[in-house]
Amino acid sequence: MNIEKNSVVRFHYTVSEAGQEPIESSDGREPLAIMVGHGNIIPGLEQAMEGKAAGDRFEVDVPAAQAYGERREGMTQRVPKKHFEGQLLQPGMQVVLNTNFGQRAVTIQKVGMTVVDVDLNHPMAGKDLHFAIEILDVREASAEELEHGHVHGEGGHHH
Ligand code: ZN
Repeated sequence: MNIEKNSVVRFHYTVSEAGQEPIESSDGREPLAIMVGHGNIIPGLEQAMEGKAAGDRFEVDVPAAQAYGERREGMTQRVPKKHFEGQLLQPGMQVVLNTNFGQRAVTIQKVGMTVVDVDLNHPMAGKDLHFAIEILDVREASAEELEHGHVHGEGGHHH
């Protein structure tokens, strides 16, 4: 079947900033499993998958606005160091922080004695990305998966 809204897709990916070395890849790891049309992945990649089928390989350029959004200025926040639970912090490092809005990836800007300045922009915000994708399999989502908005079983949630 071809990928459409509510398809469950398992795929391998490699992502790079346009014209640069790969940032991240699922090579040698478990593939990713997503349900199309539920915001599981960035909009530009979801769009590019539509109509593709198991076994397809393709590459796609996704501009920042269709990926993790543009970088926004003034997104720096000062956070008490105790929130980092003793991690060894260095400027430029990316860490996951528990915030009032749930977990989010932040970039360390400056480390003080008791406080840390972090940039709340997504680490990939403002970046035009290039993806290489290999579709492994495509199936219809179950009623339960549709209700939850995520994939169950292999590559998905187990609960
Ligand atoms: Zn679930």
